Amino acid sequence: MLIVTEDMCKQVVGRTDAFEAVEAVFAAMARGDAYNFDVIREAIGYADALYGFKSGFDKAGLTLGVKSGGYWPGNLEKGLTNHQSTVFLFNPDTGQLDALVGGNYLTAVRTAAASAVSIAHLSRKNSKVLGMVGAGHQSAFQLRAAVEQRDFEKVVAWNFHPDMLPKLGEVAADCGLPFEAVDREQLGAEADAIITITSAHEALIMKDWIKPGTHIACMGTDTKGKQEVDPELIAAATLFTDEIAQSISIGETQHAIASGLIKQSDITSIGSVINGDHVGRSSDEEITLFDGTGVGLQDLAVASTAARLAKEKGLAQEVQL
Ligand code: NAD
Repeated sequence: MLIVTEDMCKQVVGRTDAFEAVEAVFAAMARGDAYNFDVIREAIGYADALYGFKSGFDKAGLTLGVKSGGYWPGNLEKGLTNHQSTVFLFNPDTGQLDALVGGNYLTAVRTAAASAVSIAHLSRKNSKVLGMVGAGHQSAFQLRAAVEQRDFEKVVAWNFHPDMLPKLGEVAADCGLPFEAVDREQLGAEADAIITITSAHEALIMKDWIKPGTHIACMGTDTKGKQEVDPELIAAATLFTDEIAQSISIGETQHAIASGLIKQSDITSIGSVINGDHVGRSSDEEITLFDGTGVGLQDLAVASTAARLAKEKGLAQEVQL
């Protein structure tokens, strides 16, 4: 069995590796070759922690496993990240544990890879301005992956806590892009592609603020009750997601579904676009929206890449159970 630490994951898994792994597993999901099992997430009644696991099997990539972990709000004062996770990969032929992989860095790169895949497949080719809504831990990963997909010339950003924006501005500068903190209406008026990555529980971006032809990747809503955009915007957009069942229950479309503005059949799996079974964007005026809810198979895909690369590079530690 291999042990692949957080540091090893950072060394071996780059943005391109994550993009390719996530794109491939979304395609496998849409073909019916890969499926996620039911997600478990529970308040454990100790340390205010939320603990759970996401699991699945990819028959095409032969990846079987589980990401286990959750949210420990007291961790920051201990100098640790609040979100903690570990991936266990099993041999699909024997059930033996193949690898134990640190999941914290990988969660951020696989989430950024999902919105990047959506921008690559759905945004207008001539997109020039990237709009960022959110400036927390994930936002830097999101920005770096997004700007590799189109020839962006500028980043505009808004955050609920404005003091967090300069740090994101440094990331944009590191990518060689001018950065401007703007209000939300201006963000909608300027951006060709928008990423929302917040823990908001109400609509931050309204339909009337968005230009025709915009692509929006909603990445923050991964729990019942969370929300980032106007349900009217959901109703006006052509909708794509990683997994439809998760989108309507815990993702960004949950509110438009609950209020009857859209039906489940209005949402297309992004894997169908990757596989060429759905055209994706059909005009320069269409608003496309990707609801990235975050599925276990994404974690398993990047963890499997990490284990393979760490082994190839002689970094992974091999132990017998
Ligand atoms: P973080 O705690 O580092 O940052 C939180 C962000 O939300 C900040 O920008 C903060 O200013 C903003 N925010 C906080 N309260 C807000 C409010 N009331 N209204 C609007 N904005 C508010 O978190 P993070 O690690 O960057 O994660 C951001 C979100 O992404 C979280 O909701 C997290 O659960 C979600 N997430 C989703 C996936 C996925 O696969 N879809 C993966 C990882 C994280």
